[in-house]
Amino acid sequence: MARVFVITGPSGVGKGTLIRRLRESHPELRLSVSATTRPVREGEEHGRDYWFLDEDEFTRRIDEGDFVEHAEYAGRRYGTLREELDRHLGEGAPVVLEIEVQGARQIRETMPEAVQVFVVPPSFEVLRQRLEGRGTDGADTIARRLEVSRTELESQHQFDHRIINDELEKTVAELEAIVSSQLSAT
Ligand code: 5GP
Repeated sequence: MARVFVITGPSGVGKGTLIRRLRESHPELRLSVSATTRPVREGEEHGRDYWFLDEDEFTRRIDEGDFVEHAEYAGRRYGTLREELDRHLGEGAPVVLEIEVQGARQIRETMPEAVQVFVVPPSFEVLRQRLEGRGTDGADTIARRLEVSRTELESQHQFDHRIINDELEKTVAELEAIVSSQLSAT
């Protein structure tokens, strides 16, 4: 019974866009709002895009066992709050997590029933272009993210499902097929 869907893959691969599209056809899917210590980007809102915490608060919440998973990614911390997940599941709704690879691995250990989808870029060059094109990060951050991506891509075969995001409509359809089959089986 899959009620938790993990969408993972390198930064810039298009996880956010795919999830937005998926939720248009599956409005019952809830998105878990993660916590992070990274700075707020323009247009982002506390509680909607992320729970923006400072380092001390993040550490305190780790110590209190508030995270289902957490990881350090490119020098910042990110984590899924247990209360977010439990609230949605408690209301009977399936949940989507958009997380990086280390967090996805932790979820695989603690929630083996969760369905994991790794989104693969068509090429490393395309990933670079997307990160540069979206204009949310400076050159140093982009370089760091690309470096992390190389390692992340090496672990793609550890995931149940892999979809290559080379053509959006096709990729959305693939993701939707995976999710629909799981939801109708529950
Ligand atoms: P960004 O800073 O671009 O919003 O996110 C950087 C990376 O952290 C992305 O790969 C994103 O999917 C991942 N991320 C976002 N929230 C979480 C979380 O709660 N846990 C983990 N492990 N990764 C997350």
